Amino acid sequence: MDYKMFLIKYAEIGTKGKNRYYFEETMCKRMRAKLKSLGDFEVRREYGRIFVEAFSDYDFDDVVEALSTIFGIVGICPVKVVSDTSYESISKAVVEYIDETYKDKDFTFKVNARRNDKSYPKSSMELNCDLGADLLSAFPEMKVDVHNPDVLINAEIRNVFYVYSKTIPGPGGLPVGTNGKGMALLSGGIDSPVAAYMIAKRGVEIEAVYFHAPPYTSERAKQKVIDLGKLVSKYAGQIKLHIVNFTDVQLAIYDNCPHDELTIIMKRVMYKMAQEIALKEECQCIITGESIGQVSSQTSQSLMVIDQAADKLPVFRPCIGMDKQEIIDISEKINTYETSILPYEDCCTTFVAKHPVTRPKLEVIEKSEENLKGKIEELYKIAMETIEVVYCR
Ligand code: ATP
Ligand code: MG
Repeated sequence: MDYKMFLIKYAEIGTKGKNRYYFEETMCKRMRAKLKSLGDFEVRREYGRIFVEAFSDYDFDDVVEALSTIFGIVGICPVKVVSDTSYESISKAVVEYIDETYKDKDFTFKVNARRNDKSYPKSSMELNCDLGADLLSAFPEMKVDVHNPDVLINAEIRNVFYVYSKTIPGPGGLPVGTNGKGMALLSGGIDSPVAAYMIAKRGVEIEAVYFHAPPYTSERAKQKVIDLGKLVSKYAGQIKLHIVNFTDVQLAIYDNCPHDELTIIMKRVMYKMAQEIALKEECQCIITGESIGQVSSQTSQSLMVIDQAADKLPVFRPCIGMDKQEIIDISEKINTYETSILPYEDCCTTFVAKHPVTRPKLEVIEKSEENLKGKIEELYKIAMETIEVVYCR
């Protein structure tokens, strides 16, 4: 069937009271931008609903896929529309709709009719009964079940008539742009793209920072992070990625600090730099992919010590309580997994110690960092001044 229209369902936005308009409009803007290249569409708010109407041919799967990346949407309902709202016309439309939508008619149903024109010759109750009767005579295999129907047939008379019964699930969440901006530490791994996705899902716009350490990390490793940024941007919108050349800072740490503390100290410097970039870019939070206990630098004690390095912004770690498999499941769903597992080295693996500390003490780490005084400041400054920016979209 060719659907001329989609009804877009949302959930949480509905609870936003006075701000609802802002959330709806932000979501509509995202939808318009996404649909632009797929055909001629109008996205509009009407009767407290959001509709997408097509004025050109389009590819159904492409449009559904595009809408499925827009946070805030919980359901996408393809709608059959007819402009003649006489009873004969709408009855015919409902029968045709069911015929075309369900090959097998062996199911129970209930008609849920609504009308906004109270002068319409039939009441909603009458419409339920009459349309139900028309369906039963057209398809005797169908059965009515008003309590627990397999298929709920929504039939609405407005200035036009529309009918729908199927809901394709959307991603949920809140429209990106309604909840400020965050700086995601994006590595080439599985976890950080998932973390960025999860925070974007709550409406937060995403920027990202990647610490690159050439020649210890290759151009391919950098490209992999850019590719992951692009994959996440499908949901999060354009991501400004800051690529920091971290090599000299990292070497200074390597040369001056105990090797079992390297990962912790390196992470602390990364957090510090990320925070500085985040503040410059007016972000309100830092986002990382850590999960308690996953590796030695992610024990509670390590996280406590690393966390202290970002003293001005909260660090959001949406994967913190998840098992690896749960994180992998999300990465597969958002299509980052295959890219994440490409075997390119990351800057931490190059410099890891054989036996890293798992219960670091802040005082001990701070003492080790004193060895960096006078050696790291200039390198830190140069790294911050030579950041490369790539827009992932
Ligand atoms: P991921 O799967 O996201 O790479 P991981 O399990 O490898 O995470 P770590 O290497 O301990 O974990 O890194 C923890 C977090 O620190 C990452 O999720 C990421 O947010 C950040 N991070 C690590 N390395 C880098 C890097 N080179 N550039 C930017 N952020 C990084
Ligand atoms: Mg990693």
